[in-house]
Amino acid sequence: MKKSLCGRGILAPIRKPDRDKNVAPTILEQADILAKITDEPGIICRTFRSPAMKRANAQVAQWMREAGLTVREDPAGNLIGRLASKNPRAKTFILGSHLDTVRDAGKYDGILGVLTAIEVAGQLRDLPFNLEIYGFADEEGVRFATTYLGSGAVTGSLTKRNLNRKDAAGIALGQLIGDLSACRRNPRDLLGYAEVHIEQGPVLDQRRLAVGVVKAIAGQTRTRITFTGQAGHAGTTPMKMRRDALCAAAEFVLAVEKVGVLATVGTLEIRNSAGNVIPGHVTCSVDIRHENDAMRQRAVATLRRWKPRAGIKMVWENKSEVSAVACDGGLVKAMTQAARKHQRIVPLLVSGAGHDAAAMAAITPVVMLFVRCKDGISHNSAESVKPGDVAKAAAILQAFLLSVSEA
Ligand SMILES: [Zn+2]
Repeated sequence: MKKSLCGRGILAPIRKPDRDKNVAPTILEQADILAKITDEPGIICRTFRSPAMKRANAQVAQWMREAGLTVREDPAGNLIGRLASKNPRAKTFILGSHLDTVRDAGKYDGILGVLTAIEVAGQLRDLPFNLEIYGFADEEGVRFATTYLGSGAVTGSLTKRNLNRKDAAGIALGQLIGDLSACRRNPRDLLGYAEVHIEQGPVLDQRRLAVGVVKAIAGQTRTRITFTGQAGHAGTTPMKMRRDALCAAAEFVLAVEKVGVLATVGTLEIRNSAGNVIPGHVTCSVDIRHENDAMRQRAVATLRRWKPRAGIKMVWENKSEVSAVACDGGLVKAMTQAARKHQRIVPLLVSGAGHDAAAMAAITPVVMLFVRCKDGISHNSAESVKPGDVAKAAAILQAFLLSVSEA
């Protein structure tokens, strides 16, 4: 049941007996190869069902086959590699992340999780469960402004209603997706889901740690707030007689900063702004996140009670609300124990960013392993990881899978 871990190092070139002279690239070399598969030369960009996305799927499918997996693509374009157990009644454990990117992306967001999973699967045989690796077709939502398009097809959160969405060229999402029911997975067939991902934040880098285990993915409230005062002449209206909407908004921005949870005013717009006009109408966004939904809702309530200065009307509009997702206690423990073999201190982190794991949690227990990225920079061509950290993540994922197989 348990396969020996000796043999080549994780980052050494793959050289398998059945592939004699064929030397496959390492994880980081594979990421370099994928980075060249793009819809826009000069930057990395792969969106749902684009030509580059199809080429990326073909390339990753080849690496999956070389690792001994059987490969298929589901009707939503998710790429799936499978290592079947000899037990015909075995359930399935899923590893994965996404193969699409934002525009002008880095090399590792999403991709690292898929490549690490393939690398690890290539070294495992005869597991008591089926192992499947998903390269999700779309997590970033660039083309159709969706969330979790690929994993949502798997969990069922992507429904026929969503298929009317159109991209910038007027193509409907439904034209690019086949039978949705064939994408869905039955929770009863699944054991769990694990995702390796770069942290996309600075905590691991600052603490000088290679990896951390994710215990929860934060919930999120997005709102839009309008401040209405009175526009007026900047030269003729005395200071005491003004109803300056921007001054009220500025006070609100500072109140948001002090609300005690992750809270961000990311947009601020002044209607008809001009250097000689007192702002009469200002809108801003607030993004509020926390791992604990009650704490997040309390912060939202605190901000809703906030009173603007006299003469200003403030209107709230809730744009979206997503609940927090807790990772599975047992899987978090198993991943932490696996990580401790390679790192003395293993921090438990909350992911402020959304991930496919958040979608997958709807149908199966999930866990994530975060890998340090330089200065926490992501969604940026400067994204960077250390080879040693990637090797560690692969070794930890392997140890984790073996511990799951023994459980
Ligand atoms: Zn990602």
